[in-house]
Amino acid sequence: MKRAIYPGTFDPFTYGHLDIVQRAVSLFDEVIVTIALNSAKAPLFNTDERMEMLRESLSSFASVRIDSFRGLLVNYAKKEKANVIIRGLRMISDFEFEFQMALMNRKLEEEITTVFLMPDEKYTYLSSSIVREIAQLGGDCSPFVPPHIEKKLKQKYLH
Ligand code: ADP
Repeated sequence: MKRAIYPGTFDPFTYGHLDIVQRAVSLFDEVIVTIALNSAKAPLFNTDERMEMLRESLSSFASVRIDSFRGLLVNYAKKEKANVIIRGLRMISDFEFEFQMALMNRKLEEEITTVFLMPDEKYTYLSSSIVREIAQLGGDCSPFVPPHIEKKLKQKYLH
């Protein structure tokens, strides 16, 4: 049983994240998409809202489980008996941070491997923060997020 975890803030979940999940499910028996709750910055969407977004976006994948966690990622991975961490790599600018995290996680827990997946190139410029900014400024987010998330973004920024 090859189980992988895909951790992130998912504030909100985008088509870039979905692309990575699709690639991950073709490689692993089970993929746990899990919200990391330690972020220093306050998210736009609370945990329940983000869990609901993941649930709605990923309901068609039988091998995907939704979860959230606090604390060290490697401890969570061990608890879930997953020895693979999935991360998405968009461009060189992601690399420095991701490289440091992957090596540090390996130092903390040698048997856990980080696997980097690259999205379709049309998503390489896409991030949750840019989607929030577009939504805040009244732009069209439909190319970047599923319709139910576009609706929630509109509601958040309704003044
Ligand atoms: P984090 O705060 O952990 O970076 P994110 O929700 O921003 O959380 O991202 C979670 C993971 O998904 C990260 O590995 C990130 O690089 C990846 N990711 C985010 N957006 C994209 C995208 N458009 N294409 C591919 N990977 C992405």
